[in-house]
Amino acid sequence: MSGEAVGRFAPSPSGRLHLGNLACSLLAWLSAKSQGGRVVLRIEDLDAARCPRIYADQLEEDLAWLGLYWDEGGSRGGPKGPYYQSECSGIYLQSYQKLEQQGLVYPCFCSRAQLHAASAPHRSDGNVIYPGTCRALSPEEIEEKSRRRPPAWRLRVPDREIGFEDRCMGWYSENLLRDCGDFYLRRADGIFAYQLAGVVDDARMGVTEVVRGADLLSSTPRQLYLYELLGLRAPKFAHCPLLLAEDGRRLSKRDGDQSLENLRARYSAPEIVGRLAFAYGLQPEPAPRTPESLIPDFSWDKVPKQDICLPEGLF
Ligand code: GLU
Repeated sequence: MSGEAVGRFAPSPSGRLHLGNLACSLLAWLSAKSQGGRVVLRIEDLDAARCPRIYADQLEEDLAWLGLYWDEGGSRGGPKGPYYQSECSGIYLQSYQKLEQQGLVYPCFCSRAQLHAASAPHRSDGNVIYPGTCRALSPEEIEEKSRRRPPAWRLRVPDREIGFEDRCMGWYSENLLRDCGDFYLRRADGIFAYQLAGVVDDARMGVTEVVRGADLLSSTPRQLYLYELLGLRAPKFAHCPLLLAEDGRRLSKRDGDQSLENLRARYSAPEIVGRLAFAYGLQPEPAPRTPESLIPDFSWDKVPKQDICLPEGLF
C-alpha cells in the first residue's frame, strides 16, 4: 500500500455544508482520485457541544448525494478509527504528553479580553500574535494564578522560519515566533486544539495529502513544527482558493442560500458539481458533471491561486 495517495475530508460539522466546504471537498477528492488514491472522512467535532452527531450524519448524506464517496471513516468506520475527533482525546493526550516531556508546554492564564486588547500585535489575517505573557511565569505565580482560573496550555515555539511548497499556492513560510507566537495545544476545559488533533489524526490515518481552504494556509507552519516534534511524517499540502460571495465577502455557514439545503432544492448534484468545477477552472463552461467525469482532466495547475468571486447568477 505504500506510495498510495490518501486524501481526506475533515469537516467540522457545526452546520450544513456550504459551497466553500464543498469546493474543497471536491478538490480533495479529485486530487486523491486522479492519483488512483483513497479518501478518508474524519469528523472534526472536537467541540462536541457545537457539533452534534446529527450534523455529521447530514454531512455524510450530502457528500454521498454529490457523488463524493469516501473509502473509509465517518460512520463507515475502518482500520484507522476512531474517525470522530470527539472520541480521540486519549490519543491526543499521548502526543500532548510527548510535547510536555520535551519541556515545551506551559500554562497560559490570559483571558480572551486580554489577548484581544487593542495593544496586542495582530497578524495580517486578523488573529492575535501571542506576545508570550505567560511564557516565563515562576512556579509560585503559576500556583497563585491557578487558584483563580484553570489555564489553557500553549506550545513554546522557536524563533525559526518554517516553509513549505504548497501544491496550489506555491511557497509559503512563516517565522513561528514572530508571525504567530506560542500557540494553544489544549483549552482550559481540557479539549485539545485543532492544530494538535489534526496533525495527530492525519499522521495516524496515513494521510499523504491535505487539501483544504486557503484560510488554513497559515496554520501549516505550526503543524509542520508539530510533525517534527512528534517525529511524524508530514503530508503534502494544497490550499485551495476561497469562494467569495458576489459582494466580495467570504462565504460562510451564515450564507444560508449557499447551504446545501437550499442548493439541493434548486439543483441536481451534477449541476452543483459542474458549476463549482467551472468556478475553479476545471472546465470551460458550467455544464453538469459527475465528480468521476472530472478525474481524467484534473490538475492543480488549472486551479486559480486567488480567491474566487462567484460569477453572478452561477448559483
Ligand atoms: N475542520 C476544518 C474545517 O472544517 C478543516 C481542518 C483541516 O482541513 O485541516 O474548516
